[in-house]
Amino acid sequence: MSLSEIKKFIEANDNFAIIGHTNPDGDCVGSCMGLWYMLKTIGKNARVIMDTEDVPPFLRFIWNSESSGGEADSFDAYIALDCAGADRLARFKDEFCSFKNTACIDHHRTNVGFAGVNAIFPEAAATGEIIYRLAKEMSNLTLTAEAAECIYTAIASDTGGFKYSSTTGDTLRAGADLLDIGLDSAAIHKRLFDTYTLGQIQLISDITSTLSMHFGGKVAVISVTDELLSSRGMRADDADFLVSLPRSIEGVEVGVFLKKRGSDVKVSLRSGDSADVSEIAARLGGGGHIRAAGITLKNTNLVKAKEIILEEVKNLF
Ligand code: AMP
Ligand code: MN
Ligand code: MN
Repeated sequence: MSLSEIKKFIEANDNFAIIGHTNPDGDCVGSCMGLWYMLKTIGKNARVIMDTEDVPPFLRFIWNSESSGGEADSFDAYIALDCAGADRLARFKDEFCSFKNTACIDHHRTNVGFAGVNAIFPEAAATGEIIYRLAKEMSNLTLTAEAAECIYTAIASDTGGFKYSSTTGDTLRAGADLLDIGLDSAAIHKRLFDTYTLGQIQLISDITSTLSMHFGGKVAVISVTDELLSSRGMRADDADFLVSLPRSIEGVEVGVFLKKRGSDVKVSLRSGDSADVSEIAARLGGGGHIRAAGITLKNTNLVKAKEIILEEVKNLF
């Protein structure tokens, strides 16, 4: 697959709406903002469908609230970024799916291509890496420092700071090229991976106290509830920095993080170096990557969600 169809899609349209997935992460916010700056640079109108409150505070250094201005119906092309499937568009799913002129740029292997034009590159470590490739292929574009910072943040986020197995030579070269444009990588990494609120640090003991080990130490599960987070005045995504903690326990092959949110349980799966958690997630209606995948289980509780996941994970061993 090449990016030429996306290039044509960009050339052929003038007013773009860019949308990412619900509960945006660094790859999502960084890719949306990076593409927004790029489109502006080449003289296109674009808006990002995201509210400032949806952007986790630690990612607001790349957020520009001007990107979300404009009339809701004033676009003629709709681009979804970093969305494994249409469900990930949450309340915008129907609007996107019924829109006549849509594109999707993504790197999830479980993405079946839900837009009119689909650029899905599972070998890319981040959607930001594909946005970078696109930037290089657009002959009428020079990346600005702002765009570079957003795209770098996107790639650094999804690779855990260029350290996950998804990181390839191309990923590192993209990071190096973006760094050369002139950004403070140390400050970005500190913000993404080494800065916590006091409340987050205090949360660690509550969350680790829920830890349970299964299948001879190969599976570790931790959980958090929205009641706990809201009782501390914290955001629903304030515990997400602990998502990979279960996997980091020696001997663990699948780490599970359960997040109770209203009547749903959001499940995050992380694997060590053998299991393919994207398959498990896809079987349960979610999706993702080999080493990181997710599912939202509707109308359930933590006890039932844990049973469902352990039953599915059991087949691996
Ligand atoms: P998370 O555990 O939310 O950090 O997600 C891990 C990976 O799986 C990310 O790349 C997500 O985009 C993807 N993912 C999470 N939840 C879902 C879902 N319900 N459907 C499809 N992909 C998902
Ligand atoms: Mn994402
Ligand atoms: Mn991503």
